[in-house]
Amino acid sequence: MTDRQQLYEGKAKVIFEGPEDGTLVQYFKDDATAFNAQKKDVITGKGVLNNYISEHIMQAVEQIGIPTHFLERLNDREQLIRELEIIPVEIVVRNVAAGSICPRLGLEEGSALPNTLVEFCLKDDALGDPIIAAEHITTFGWASADELDVIYDDTLRINDFLTGLFHGIGVRLVDFKLEFGREQREDGVRVILADEISPDNCRLWDAQTNEKMDKDRFRRDLGGLIDAYQEIARRLGVTVPDLA
Ligand code: UDP
Repeated sequence: MTDRQQLYEGKAKVIFEGPEDGTLVQYFKDDATAFNAQKKDVITGKGVLNNYISEHIMQAVEQIGIPTHFLERLNDREQLIRELEIIPVEIVVRNVAAGSICPRLGLEEGSALPNTLVEFCLKDDALGDPIIAAEHITTFGWASADELDVIYDDTLRINDFLTGLFHGIGVRLVDFKLEFGREQREDGVRVILADEISPDNCRLWDAQTNEKMDKDRFRRDLGGLIDAYQEIARRLGVTVPDLA
């Protein structure tokens, strides 16, 4: 780790001050948590894999014209990112029923949804990240209606793009979670993509076998998480250094 000033420690990442104004350093830990941190473990090498995989995906998202906080990967565990004011809403995109929506709505895991579903959760661990409606977001001022329009449009483009990207490597993008934030610029404020896109916050199933290649391997004690993340990296063409 660096001797930079730590600003915030989350469940899987730490944020440090950056080398220049308007930048931060995002450090990927090996900690794994699930069920609002009731289940915890350390999985050696997970942070390195997520750093490299997220770098690859964030750069691809930038290439289709969606701005992100990602600037550059600094080393095996750290990325230089733009400093943002995080919007306290998690955007969950679902293409196939899995995870929390199944017990909530009585759906069978793996059943196709009639269309892509975008859900919002309040980012608040103490409240257990409750699901909220778009109207809560504007009512309580977590984001403006204009900001929500940008978030919604970017989210659907990212879903279309990533669905195709993963389809091309034999993986089904079942669902995933995004976060956005506000960047202060000389010409005003813009809303851009934040956080990470990795097997920690996506459900990724092998297209042939439906084998889980994501954090559900940890949530459900299936084992083989590192092998699965390495296979995602390999199929994406991402070279990750030895993890030992
Ligand atoms: N997700 C996440 N962080 C969260 C909650 C969900 O990254 O705090 C991701 C999760 O990995 C999955 C998607 O969002 O890809 C949908 O998760 P779900 O609501 O089914 O919740 P979970 O089953 O993770 O409790």
